[in-house]
Amino acid sequence: MAKKEKGKQKKVPPPQNIPEIEPKTKYLFIIILAAFLLAFFLHKMSAKSKEIPYSEFRAMVSKGEVTECTVGQRVIEGKAVVKGEEKEFVTLRVEEDKELVDLLEKHKVKYTGTEDQSWFYQLFLTLIIPLILIILIWNFIFKRMAGAGDQVMSFGRNKAKLYASVGEKITFKDVAGIEDAQMEMMEMVEFLKNPQKFQRLGGKIPKGVLLVGPPGTGKTLLAKATAGEAGVPFFSMNGSEFVEMFVGVGAARVRDLFDQALKKAPCIIFIDEIDAIGRHRGAGSIVGGNDEREQTLNQLLSEMDGFSSKKGVIIMAATNRPDVLDSALLRPGRFDRQIVLHAPDLAGREAILNVHIRSLTLSPEVDLHSVAARTPGFVGADLSFICNEAALLAARNDKDAIEMSDFDKAIDRVIAGPEKTNRLISQKEKEIVAFHEAGHTIVAHFLPRTDPVTRVSIIPRGIHALGVTMQTPIEDRYLMTKSELEEKLCTLLGGRSAEELIFNEISTGAQNDLRNATELARSMIAEYGMNKKIGLISFPNAAPMFLRRGFYDGQGAYSEQTSYEIEEEVKAVLSELYDKATTILKEHEEMLDILANALLQKETIEKKELIELLGPKKVLEKRNREQGTVNSGQ
Ligand code: ADP
Ligand code: MG
Ligand code: ZN
Repeated sequence: MAKKEKGKQKKVPPPQNIPEIEPKTKYLFIIILAAFLLAFFLHKMSAKSKEIPYSEFRAMVSKGEVTECTVGQRVIEGKAVVKGEEKEFVTLRVEEDKELVDLLEKHKVKYTGTEDQSWFYQLFLTLIIPLILIILIWNFIFKRMAGAGDQVMSFGRNKAKLYASVGEKITFKDVAGIEDAQMEMMEMVEFLKNPQKFQRLGGKIPKGVLLVGPPGTGKTLLAKATAGEAGVPFFSMNGSEFVEMFVGVGAARVRDLFDQALKKAPCIIFIDEIDAIGRHRGAGSIVGGNDEREQTLNQLLSEMDGFSSKKGVIIMAATNRPDVLDSALLRPGRFDRQIVLHAPDLAGREAILNVHIRSLTLSPEVDLHSVAARTPGFVGADLSFICNEAALLAARNDKDAIEMSDFDKAIDRVIAGPEKTNRLISQKEKEIVAFHEAGHTIVAHFLPRTDPVTRVSIIPRGIHALGVTMQTPIEDRYLMTKSELEEKLCTLLGGRSAEELIFNEISTGAQNDLRNATELARSMIAEYGMNKKIGLISFPNAAPMFLRRGFYDGQGAYSEQTSYEIEEEVKAVLSELYDKATTILKEHEEMLDILANALLQKETIEKKELIELLGPKKVLEKRNREQGTVNSGQ
């Protein structure tokens, strides 16, 4: 029995990565133990029924009823014939009885001595088995509660997975379509390979890198590839794994993770989906908040501050929700480097497909360019899925190679897949989005006080935005004039206006723009005092949650009457500016057309091409803006 237990323990893999501990074996084990216990108790009970007092035993011997007995150190077992009936008996031995042997001799009882039916056996049955049973049950219950298995005794032990740089190594060869991000990671590889070189002149190696991008764009992949490329250990942990049901576990895990990693420097620590721990502290819940998460976050911050980057440990984190991150995480010395991964464009998608077909057998007629062309909005993960799906489909039909039709079916499958229905856009939708984005861009381009457009794209991004028009301010600004704000509003409304102008119809795609425009207009009127009718008055409605009155949005800070007037003014201002946007678009309808068509073809247009298409942007002389210096920001 004891041996079996040992063997069982050996089978359990080390705590780092137990997916599950063969639940079946475990049930079996528990059942066997229970059976043993039962047997033991039955045995004990039957022993009890045969138990007789020592005095009775002596009396039986004296009467010659006892035929044979076994004398142990504590008990005497034996057989007796009482009134012609054979009977077994057990009695506890009275040690002081030195004449027992004489007595037995005298009555010709067959007797033998024995090592007692072992205290060991008894101890084993009464103590060890129940103990093992209890531990097993406890273990089992906790595992249930904690979700995936961690060993009971190691709550704080961390589950960081160590990806050694041996075996199947992921490198930059496995990554495609996100060149910009990859270039920046190349720099990290240099740092990791040769930390001394960069520190020679006293410079500090960056500590933290935050990978930002929609799901499936390859954030995790890129982090792994960086470790693979640099040939350093890769410690990875998911943000949600830090936050478990036991208070204090998250913080302990963070400490442990850093301890482990520092021993293996240079290396990469990767925290995937950091938003699980990195949300604004105090946001999201009014009552109580999540103390556990906050503790974990605080621990992470203090660990990051605590170690010097001299050691060559780079902390990477990934998120698709940078907007919810606590600003403390983004401060200098923490995740101060941000690398953005975009959904790939046409060329990028083709490159990614090329990575994923490396191990597949394709028929020569397969044209990956056209597969890429059919999949706007697909990210790396989708494309990888398509390749695999096509291979499976072809294999199912006993084909020798994967054909174009398999790819088509695979694409359909992704599009029809439940969670991705909103990803792929039809040709008609694509046109609407193209004109919508072109509308923003044209309005921004032909208004003198707006920030120049640096990139316009119709690649779907996130849930709401089907396209994006990115503007970058030429210089840092701390003030905006009323005219500038109005032009900004015009630009926001330009998308919807273009849709109406071209298709004589409007779509739901402009909802986000409208919300932003409404908010901005409201601020102008109710906060910055920029409206004649409402006057010089400011209602702060951006106070932190806990400073607001009541638990709702703090709208109640002004009277019903004012509230109504503000709404009326917001409507008036927006409708006036909408007309202005429409006028601009009508004036430049030809350009709108050219730009929209270019977008339909290329999906993304960068600043340089934009200027080639539309000519240089009109800027105001007065503000003496310098062309050509681009500041960071969005
Ligand atoms: P994320 O972490 O951004 O959600 P992942 O890195 O987990 O995305 O990507 C999932 C899978 O999709 C990867 O394992 C890879 O096979 C594929 N993939 C994603 N992006 C790319 C890319 N840029 N190049 C090649 N493959 C990619
Ligand atoms: Mg990921
Ligand atoms: Zn828009």
